[in-house]
Amino acid sequence: MNKDQIADIVIEDMAEDGAGIGKADGYPLFVKDAVVGDTVRVKVMKDKKRYAYAKLLEVLSPSPDRVRPVCPVAGPCGGCQLQALSYEAQLAFKQKKVREHLRRIGGFAVTEDADGDGVYVAPVLGMDVPFCYRNKEQFPVGRGKDGGIVTGFYAGRTHDIIETSDCMLSVPVCESVLARVKQWMTDYDIAPYDEETGTGLVRHVLIRTSRYFGTSMVCPVINGEELPHAQELVDLLTQDRQIISVCYNVNTGRDNVILGERVVPLYGQPCIIDKISDRMFKISPLSFYQVNPTQTEVLYAVVRECCDLSGSEVIWDLYCGIGTISLYLCGGAKQVYGVEIVPAAIEDAKMNAEINGCKNVEFFCGRAEEVLPAYYEQERAQGRAATADIMIVDPPRKGCDPALLQTMLDMTPERIVYVSCDSATLARDLRILCDGGYRVERVQPVDMFPQTVHVETVCCLYHQKKDFISVPYEPKNADYLKQLK
Ligand code: SAH
Repeated sequence: MNKDQIADIVIEDMAEDGAGIGKADGYPLFVKDAVVGDTVRVKVMKDKKRYAYAKLLEVLSPSPDRVRPVCPVAGPCGGCQLQALSYEAQLAFKQKKVREHLRRIGGFAVTEDADGDGVYVAPVLGMDVPFCYRNKEQFPVGRGKDGGIVTGFYAGRTHDIIETSDCMLSVPVCESVLARVKQWMTDYDIAPYDEETGTGLVRHVLIRTSRYFGTSMVCPVINGEELPHAQELVDLLTQDRQIISVCYNVNTGRDNVILGERVVPLYGQPCIIDKISDRMFKISPLSFYQVNPTQTEVLYAVVRECCDLSGSEVIWDLYCGIGTISLYLCGGAKQVYGVEIVPAAIEDAKMNAEINGCKNVEFFCGRAEEVLPAYYEQERAQGRAATADIMIVDPPRKGCDPALLQTMLDMTPERIVYVSCDSATLARDLRILCDGGYRVERVQPVDMFPQTVHVETVCCLYHQKKDFISVPYEPKNADYLKQLK
């Protein structure tokens, strides 16, 4: 295909990044903002020899799954990739994505039939209202073409800020917070950060909200050690009584990392408190916390089903963050050990154990791939059997380190529950675990990130050689899950 060539094509499939895929003369074209089932007119932009990227010029005939995006900047903004696809079709897209990763990357035989042979990926558990779910936003701040201050989100694959103060995925408070921050910057002539030159002060505005209390924390990320006119910012923000915490974060680095290590409190405690199930959690700005609290309850309920606790289990919760899964499960187990790399998160986890009166949990700060092997070696050196009944892993997108997977295989827990936010690395790691003697019992995706291409997956593995009774999965708690929605 030649650059600038125009073609009319039918979109037959969708790529992992949400682009529509159709063929012109047998040649695959990737078209952003086109959805499966559309007939579209496109213009070829970049030829990659075996395929090309094309720009959507016109939808000639819309797919039955096409919907009108609710957000006016859904196209240019890089945050949502699937807003033009009906929610039902989004869930089907994600189920297929997980299944295809297991097949292609993990080399698993997969089945689309719940009773078929092979690994079955269950339908994705979705939301009733798949908008306004995010409890955390990090809005970049910059300068617009007219010299004014803009906040919004980065356009896909670039650092151009698409101006939006009213994101359809965020909680409503963000709009007024951004307006106040912009007003403060204008009133006191405070410059936004400029990535090109490394000058200017305000880089991002982090906003975290507690779903349970409806309270929010605002934390500008600044390129400097001191925040000028801090009291004026506090006064302006706290006119909104929902804002109970204001702090700032220092990040003077020149790279793309959003948060620096130092948090300076200005007003209230530098944290928010939220509730999941019957547990309270303190969350500091630097700690990880699931961004979709409604679906976190669904996710953790699936994890609990997979654990099927009797009360006698020893559990390792690896990549534990602020200890949410550990504390969610510890009431039904004998002992839980949590491991997490971020010191602030481990401090939160210990505090959370105390707040909730949980005595049978212990947290370790360090890399999971170092802490677990060290524990295993130490126990063996002392002639003790280092084992566990259940290991839960919930790693970031890059998945588990090989050294961790090897120690898990050495320790051979009866069950492994793998919680993953990237099904490609999940598939890679499951292959290693299954080659080491485990069998995939259940794969349950949960939609933590509606309107985007991301999918969270819980996978339950049993060790094959251990003497246990394998019961086909029956959702004991199906009613409970329904109640949560
Ligand atoms: N299970 C938690 C957190 C999951 S997010 C929850 O549901 O809230 C993944 C966590 O892994 C983050 O808190 C991150 O800081 C941590 N992490 C990243 N790399 C790690 C490593 N090598 N060892 C231990 N923890 C790590």
